[in-house]
Amino acid sequence: MTTPTMTVRVIDHSRWGTSAPYPAIRTVTIAAVCPQCGGPRGEAQHHRFNADGEWLSCDRWKNPCGHVDMYDAVLVEARRAVE
Ligand SMILES: [Zn+2]
Repeated sequence: MTTPTMTVRVIDHSRWGTSAPYPAIRTVTIAAVCPQCGGPRGEAQHHRFNADGEWLSCDRWKNPCGHVDMYDAVLVEARRAVE
């Protein structure tokens, strides 16, 4: 059985693997389930925000189970998935 995945754009404050401008928007593929309880993650919603006068787009989602996915944790999860 394959774990369903979802592709989201998240804010990367770590500059992981690149010299992209800060903050970097990174498109990552993660499991579509909550890492804490295994329940389904929420539907990703497009979110625009302003950083230093520049409009950036990322995704936000609210898990029905109530666990909050922090972008940093999502990036760690995505990195682990590709290694
Ligand atoms: Zn959960």
